[in-house]
Amino acid sequence: MSAPAPATPDALSLRAGLELPYTHVDDVFSGGRWTPAQGTGRNPVTDPATGEIWGSVPDGNAEDIDAAVGAARQAFESGPWRRMSATDRAGYLLRIAEGIEARAEQIALTNTRENGSPVAESRGAAANAASILRYFASLAPRLDAEDVRPFPSGVGESVVRRDPVGVCALIAPWNFPINLMVIKLAPALLAGCSVVMKPASPTPLSFRFIVDAVAAAGVPDGVVNLVTGSGRLGDALVRHPGVDKVAFTGSTPVGRKIAAAAGELLRPVTLELGGKSSAIVLPDADLEAMSSVLVRSCMRNTGQTCYISTRILAPASRYDEVVDMVTATIAAGRQEDPLDPDTVFGPCATSSQFNTVMEYVASAHAEGARATTGGRAAQLGGGLEDGFFVEPTVFADVAPSLRIAREEIFGPVLSVLRYDDVDDAVALANNTRFGLGGLVFGEDQDAALAVADRIDSGSVGLNFFASNHSAPFGGRHDSGLGTEYGEEGLSAYLSYKSIHRR
Ligand code: NAP
Ligand code: MG
Repeated sequence: MSAPAPATPDALSLRAGLELPYTHVDDVFSGGRWTPAQGTGRNPVTDPATGEIWGSVPDGNAEDIDAAVGAARQAFESGPWRRMSATDRAGYLLRIAEGIEARAEQIALTNTRENGSPVAESRGAAANAASILRYFASLAPRLDAEDVRPFPSGVGESVVRRDPVGVCALIAPWNFPINLMVIKLAPALLAGCSVVMKPASPTPLSFRFIVDAVAAAGVPDGVVNLVTGSGRLGDALVRHPGVDKVAFTGSTPVGRKIAAAAGELLRPVTLELGGKSSAIVLPDADLEAMSSVLVRSCMRNTGQTCYISTRILAPASRYDEVVDMVTATIAAGRQEDPLDPDTVFGPCATSSQFNTVMEYVASAHAEGARATTGGRAAQLGGGLEDGFFVEPTVFADVAPSLRIAREEIFGPVLSVLRYDDVDDAVALANNTRFGLGGLVFGEDQDAALAVADRIDSGSVGLNFFASNHSAPFGGRHDSGLGTEYGEEGLSAYLSYKSIHRR
């Protein structure tokens, strides 16, 4: 006899027990303190699992941008931050990391209520942010080291300075609101820059805990500033005359606009954009092992992750076997309230994202793909009736010309495509305007590495995917410009100067 399934607490009772410090706020962080916003508009914060509006933030205006950039400029020009050694700044980074860890649970719950990331995911955000800060802190000795390079001709030598690039505008999307901002903030701070940050409209509250950790660490006033508001405010920030560099993660269309503005202003820019990556399943792949990493590498965060491989390329000889494994693995993932720790798949983060995903699902049905699991909106009970849930979906018999095989969906939808030989698989994987992630599954490590080398993309995983804080991460082609993480990610916040002497 099997035990009865444990009762799942309903959405209302889970939410009634939450006491989140930030819900409806009217301030922004400027010049070292929380201060009332000047923009009088408000932007709602919606729980995508229930559709309930549970918070709101100021819709900042041009004066808020002026104040934040002005504070950052003043801190950069006349404050102590850039004059300290990198080793001293690293001490602040380590304290910020501790402060973030101390706020981990509030960060996770706020993040989950903003964008519906399962708490099993959002509970990792603080530890990951702390780890990013500690990694960049570890690079301080390299920044502080004397760098003197002889002329190859022997006529003298050059002292190479690594100056901070200046005031940086940091703009993040909603899918990983903590990580994707901290990956900019940490190297910017270590370099000695000042920053003005704008989170995405759906996720403006969780990042406040990071700012609190910055303030508690004693970072000098004006070095770190936070504004909230729409994409229009982001545009004003990008173009503000007081900004020296822009770092952006988000969609390719917005990235293009930012690149155009930065081009006109000759302002350095780092762009981490969209993707449409492929997992190549080689004929010798261990499908059981692949199943154990499938959600993380192909449908992480309910499919709302930039680098995941949403196209699975299976050899014709094992096509049905791969489809069966992928279908069974995805169908076994529990879709429920994202506040429930056992939930694997949550809702789409916003109603507009839900609509976009459902349009892609409809296009796949219309174009002749076969849904082997999912393929429609999910109907959940227990208070989740108005949430933005799409059933985790796998489409088989997907021709490469289908929209779902070519465009970034950013929802819980996988396509399984068929290939004949390895050359065909590589050609299919590279048949995209993007170049962000990718995976190769195969038992023969050398053969898998040789295939990975042929994928035209910034990162490729062999039998698993993870981002390594010390290795560069970035996209090629329509997936972006420049890299984050690693020493390469730090150099994006530096401006080099060579002083030549005999
Ligand atoms: P998005 O619509 O491009 O927005 C990203 C950020 O830019 C938000 O803060 C947004 O503010 C702001 N923004 C919008 N228009 C702007 C403008 N004209 N000028 C300056 N800022 C502007 O992207 P999203 O929908 O939030 O995120 C999903 C996308 O991010 C996907 O395409 C995904 O692939 C990509 N992504 C890439 C990576 C990577 O590392 N390559 C990582 C994660 C996500 P509002 O929210 O107020 O509009
Ligand atoms: Mg958007």
